[in-house]
Amino acid sequence: ERAREILESVKERDDTRLGVEAMELLDAYGIETPHGEIVDDPADALEVAEEIDGNVVMKIVSPDILHKSDIGGVKVGVENEDVFDAYEDLITRAKNYQPDANILGVQVQEMVDLDNGVETIVGMNRDPQFGPLMMFGLGGIFVEILEDTTFRVAPVSESEADEMTKEIDAAPMLRGARGNDPVDTEGIAETIQRLSQLVTDFPAILELDINPLVALPDGVKAVDVRLTVD
Ligand code: ADP
Ligand code: MG
Repeated sequence: ERAREILESVKERDDTRLGVEAMELLDAYGIETPHGEIVDDPADALEVAEEIDGNVVMKIVSPDILHKSDIGGVKVGVENEDVFDAYEDLITRAKNYQPDANILGVQVQEMVDLDNGVETIVGMNRDPQFGPLMMFGLGGIFVEILEDTTFRVAPVSESEADEMTKEIDAAPMLRGARGNDPVDTEGIAETIQRLSQLVTDFPAILELDINPLVALPDGVKAVDVRLTVD
């Protein structure tokens, strides 16, 4: 029911879009996310960074800025001593981009080990003909360039989700190509299923993307999310 509260909060602020403030929605459905918190002042950002222990990622949190990197709204590998400056810089960039943007704060997030992982994308779009379509493919820049994606109508079964991880052209990358360790494809399939359950439970979700879902040898982590509700 936490999920319902989150979705209702977006209506209260008279909007239809949600960004990383919707991470809890994923938590509620058992989809693992990196440790992190959204804060609205630099001192709190530093506190979270210190708890995380190590370099962090900092992201602008605003329903008006759902493509955060495009405006320099994602800082990767921030050291504790740079957290204050990074915080101010993110807010400044957001305001320069859109002076009246609704800025909810800054997310301070644990770093995920991309060197040993594969960035994938799991998404959903409601098709007028087929209904909720689950999508899976490689994440990052590959999504647009290769159009290497696969679709199933939600709710997807365990075996359908498993098929999805096997039938993209890049499937060998998930299973340990070029001397890399294979990543947790069962975790990917489980995430597809859990997300499919979420969008089945909430027809008000019109579209939703986890991009990237980082697949690691020992699990998966949903690093970014955005969705639209009606
Ligand atoms: P957006 O898609 O809005 O630009 P993301 O949160 O997806 O913002 O971040 C952009 C990119 O930054 C990701 O695709 C990933 O490569 C990198 N990144 C984001 N968060 C992390 C993280 N916690 N650990 C490592 N890399 C990250
Ligand atoms: Mg993203």
